[in-house]
Amino acid sequence: MNKKPNILLVYTGGTIGMIKDYKTGALRAFDFDKLLKRIPELSHLNCDISTISFEEPMDSSNMNPDSWVRILEIIEDNYTAFDGFVVLHGSDTMSYTASALSFMLENLSKPVIFTGSQLPIGDLRTDAKENLITSIEIASLMENNQPVIKEVCLYFEYKLYRANRTTKINAEHFQAFASLNYPALAESGVHLKVHKEYLLKPTNKELVVRKDLDARIAVIKLFPGINEHSFECIINNDYIKAVIIETYGAGNAPTEEWFYKVLQKAVDAGKFIVNVTQCSGGSVNMGQYETSVHLQELGIISGKDITTEAAIAKLMYLLGAGINKKTFKTVFETSLRGEMS
Ligand code: ASP
Repeated sequence: MNKKPNILLVYTGGTIGMIKDYKTGALRAFDFDKLLKRIPELSHLNCDISTISFEEPMDSSNMNPDSWVRILEIIEDNYTAFDGFVVLHGSDTMSYTASALSFMLENLSKPVIFTGSQLPIGDLRTDAKENLITSIEIASLMENNQPVIKEVCLYFEYKLYRANRTTKINAEHFQAFASLNYPALAESGVHLKVHKEYLLKPTNKELVVRKDLDARIAVIKLFPGINEHSFECIINNDYIKAVIIETYGAGNAPTEEWFYKVLQKAVDAGKFIVNVTQCSGGSVNMGQYETSVHLQELGIISGKDITTEAAIAKLMYLLGAGINKKTFKTVFETSLRGEMS
């Protein structure tokens, strides 16, 4: 008889872990050690659940690369002992953390499912229970003694997404995330339907954890009226090694001379400049319009249809890995974890 899958639930913080004190109306942190007692439904799941919590659960606005490494190390230390991982995380920066983990966990062959909620787990109308229960169910899916999901995912409001394709799109709706450039990997309704054709293909190689991230990057969102001085200040600051420019539409930008000159100076100084569209869906296609030909001529890196969240994570990861100047553009433009088409 096959043994039950072993799932590790990692609580990092966020709304999901709160409970309302109905006397005072205040929200307070939930005691995750008593999770199974408080949510008896969990004991009906066909898996064994262990929990581990950040000593001080945090609002996800305070997450940073050091906290990403803490999550990574929990998974690394428990990788052989568990069949799958569910990470409970605040929804505000969940797409950033989950995208980062997708790069930090190379050759992943087990599910790492990020989830959270818009309402605390102790609230009567909470979305937390469904998100939590289905995430655990998905992490427990096995076929021929192997996990079905072997990548970093984000589950929210009946949909499982590839994490590095997601963006938080709504601060109030239960459907808080979207993945506009890649279809959902699974959907939960009366049945749990996994779209296997969209899953990452397993590698059969040993897990490699990547902890070196270099955060000396900046993101500049273009807007009509952006001026030379502020653009120059950020992009040609000595501290900054790489910049993501959120451009218009299919990767378009002003053709004014100053714009070209500032970029030229940055490229000459060896900085990596990535073109990511500020549209939530669709792709950068430099050369399609006259307003992106100059970017192409400068050798600006195409972010294609990557999200800004995944581009940030990928830049930190590639800078941390010390990818050399010659190959950086090619490596960035190659899909490493299914983050771009
Ligand atoms: N501010 C919270 C956080 O991101 C919101 C949430 O949990 O959904 O930590």
